[in-house]
Amino acid sequence: MKIYQIYTHNDLRNFTYVLALADQTAIVIDPWDANEVVGFLEANQLTLKTIINTHEHWDHTQGNQALFDRYQCQVWAHANGKGKIPALSRTLEAGEVISIDTDFQLKVLDTPGHTFAHLCFVVLKQNAEIAVFTGDTLFNAGVGHCRSGDELTLYKTISEQFQTMDNSIVVYPGHDYLENNLRFTLNFEPNNSAANAWLNKVVAPEYQPGSLQTTIGDEKSFNTFMRLDNPTIIASLKLEQPSNKEVFLALRARRDRW
Ligand SMILES: [Zn+2]
Repeated sequence: MKIYQIYTHNDLRNFTYVLALADQTAIVIDPWDANEVVGFLEANQLTLKTIINTHEHWDHTQGNQALFDRYQCQVWAHANGKGKIPALSRTLEAGEVISIDTDFQLKVLDTPGHTFAHLCFVVLKQNAEIAVFTGDTLFNAGVGHCRSGDELTLYKTISEQFQTMDNSIVVYPGHDYLENNLRFTLNFEPNNSAANAWLNKVVAPEYQPGSLQTTIGDEKSFNTFMRLDNPTIIASLKLEQPSNKEVFLALRARRDRW
């Protein structure tokens, strides 16, 4: 299996992912533009077998109907996406492990907070966790907003399901917000060397959205929402001996106004 991360050049900076399988079929995650996906599949001689939507927001599902009409593919998503996700045909449960290719599986995570119909997917290669598709739950150096979800629920999802992941796991988010999020980190932690080093990479002329991937270990080094014990962040927020939950909620509120 090969993972292609496609930047869609829109104002929301979405990523669509294509998983090309050994039998020349493909899985598409969060199709932004059906025509763009068809062009990619045809250029790579792939047939679409399955669409996976991380959640129900339109910018993650708007390619569904046209792709379904063309390929009669399956559409997988959270059960709470029923009635909202076009052509939904299979609902997935937390803990399911789905074999998708020789040596490769997807493990389903139920990850509420950004919305209540949000799934993330861990990629297993020969039973080792190597990557995770995070939709709008975890971004590079940030987390999703909660305007159609709940901040406290997102805190639980991040702390219980992502903070505990192995550092080597590669993060594939739903949007490219890396530069803005790194600037958010540096607003609280100006001397964070990892954030400064990554910002230098992102502002370099050769950077293209999707040309750099972070790992969970990288996120722990510069993602404020995974650094809730950090004394510099706590001091910047002017909180007195806050709990991790209080730091997360304060950061999320600040990010909403950023
Ligand atoms: Zn969303």
